Amino acid sequence: MTDARLFRRPRLNMLLVLFLGLATASAWLSVVYLPTPLVDRMMREDISHEAENWRTRVLYALEGGSLTFERGQLTAADAEWLDEVTTLSDIYRFKLFTADGRVFWSSRPSDVGTVNEKPYFQDVVARGRKYYKAEMKPMEEVDSHLHTEHDHHLPGETLCVAEIYTPVMHDGRFVGAIEFYTDITEMGHIFTERLRNIFLALSSISLLLLLLTSVVIRHAGRTQVRMLRQRALKEREMMDDQMRLAREVRLLGELNEWLQSSRSLGELFEMVGRFMSHILPDCEGSVYVYSNSRDVLMGAASWNGGHHCDHIRAEDCWGLRRGRTYSFGASEVDFPCGHSEAQDDRPSFCFPVLAHGETVGLLHLKARPGLGVEDFRASQKLAQMCAEQISLAIANVQMRDQLHDRSIRDPLTGLYNRRHLTDTLRRLLERSGREDRPLSILSIDVDHFKRFNDTHGHDAGDMVLRAVGKVLEQACDGDETACRMGGEEFMLLLPDLGPEAAALRAEALRHAVEHISVRYGEKTLPRVTVSIGLAMHPDDGAMPQQLMKAADDALYDAKARGRNQVAIAGEETAGADATAPPQEPVQIGKAS
Ligand code: GH3
Ligand code: MG
Ligand code: MG
Repeated sequence: MTDARLFRRPRLNMLLVLFLGLATASAWLSVVYLPTPLVDRMMREDISHEAENWRTRVLYALEGGSLTFERGQLTAADAEWLDEVTTLSDIYRFKLFTADGRVFWSSRPSDVGTVNEKPYFQDVVARGRKYYKAEMKPMEEVDSHLHTEHDHHLPGETLCVAEIYTPVMHDGRFVGAIEFYTDITEMGHIFTERLRNIFLALSSISLLLLLLTSVVIRHAGRTQVRMLRQRALKEREMMDDQMRLAREVRLLGELNEWLQSSRSLGELFEMVGRFMSHILPDCEGSVYVYSNSRDVLMGAASWNGGHHCDHIRAEDCWGLRRGRTYSFGASEVDFPCGHSEAQDDRPSFCFPVLAHGETVGLLHLKARPGLGVEDFRASQKLAQMCAEQISLAIANVQMRDQLHDRSIRDPLTGLYNRRHLTDTLRRLLERSGREDRPLSILSIDVDHFKRFNDTHGHDAGDMVLRAVGKVLEQACDGDETACRMGGEEFMLLLPDLGPEAAALRAEALRHAVEHISVRYGEKTLPRVTVSIGLAMHPDDGAMPQQLMKAADDALYDAKARGRNQVAIAGEETAGADATAPPQEPVQIGKAS
């Protein structure tokens, strides 16, 4: 079968068709207007060949061979053979010439003795070359010897007669010539017919080839057009894919950048919602994050019409239960997750969000109504990448939070440290100054704690410090801040608390510490007491250091007065009632 691929070059095809078209046309033309020179040439070739044969035969038959021509005389046997041969062959007449053109034998005896003085004899034949001549002659002028009973010539008909002179050479010398004279009228017809048939065959073949080529080219052309269309379609699909990929990569990069720069989980989830609705516009989504207690996952954000519950349990999600991506709608038999609010058949993904090898949350994506399963599943890779970005960002924020928390917290008690207290105090003082609001500060020190440590050991001391810290922390409300300043010293910031309320709070704290009971191993440790100094903005200072110093000074006063009591900054001497512990327990917490 013809390989259609050969015909997929339009320029070559055109040339091929053009060539075949020309060939067909010229072959047809040749059939109609047969080129005469070609027929003549063919006849001339044929007769020359024939003459050559005859010359050989004549030279072979003559007793003297070529020397006969040099002598210009024939033996009787030669003459007899020559007379006979003319009647037997299709060469009806011939003459034998000597080198100077004299006829020494002719099939027409009257020619003997005549001399051929035509220029061609000396110019062509005498130089060893054949001379050919064909001409039309009325039949009457043609030698009657030429007409035999086989001829069908009619009187008055014109005949084509050919004359050919062949030189006879001896030892390279021209010694004479033989002239053959024959009627080629029939031969001309035969050659013409033969040529016409050849051209007819050629034109038919080239026409056939032309048709065949056209069909193949047309078929190849159609195949090529179909292939080109397919290729164009494929290229467009590839280009679309690349553009989509580029957009996704860009959005992922942007998402990553924004997520990395978010300072809190709240901010982070807001960004997640916004970006996810762009990156995967055909998916509803929600994201959950584990609560601090890790017993439930809190709904953090949702987008594109998605919904998130307040909280879910890990058991409600197949992805979280199995610890890997869960694709609902991918298998013949599968189960929807409990947290997926609408129990419809839309496919969904649950990606556990991992940070430092630990599950910290869940990314849930669901096909929007109308989105095909295949299209939805095609987005899994991208969604997976998003989940990874979100995981990293959550890990970052959590780690940053932890580091920050560590940097402002006291590891023993979990209370804020001095650094945080100083910052907070500065901020609160600014606000109090600006808004003319009161601010109280308590400086608290455990009494005779060295002695306690020495008696019960450092570990027991630590347990007591933790218990004191817990009491202080529980005493704080809203903006109130409890800090461990170092050792057995604490400080409390009480915004919006006036002198009386602050004094009451301090007294309540002193009382609460006094009643702390700590078990250490098998025994219960003796109770500890604290001394408290109270200072206030704006009366005792407007700057953090001033106010802290005032509170410390008041604390020293409390120590000096015998410990386990509250002293208020600026009060000269304490009354007996200030040093004595109160008789009734005082409620801890912000005074209403
Ligand atoms: P005062 O009533 O005058 O405050 O007497 P004090 O003994 O409490 O005061 P002092 O400053 O002399 O001693 C503080 C003691 O607190 C010294 C140290 O043994 C103890 N201490 C400081 N930091 C820690 C701690 O982190 N853990 C424990 N267990 N003890 C601590
Ligand atoms: Mg101290
Ligand atoms: Mg002390």
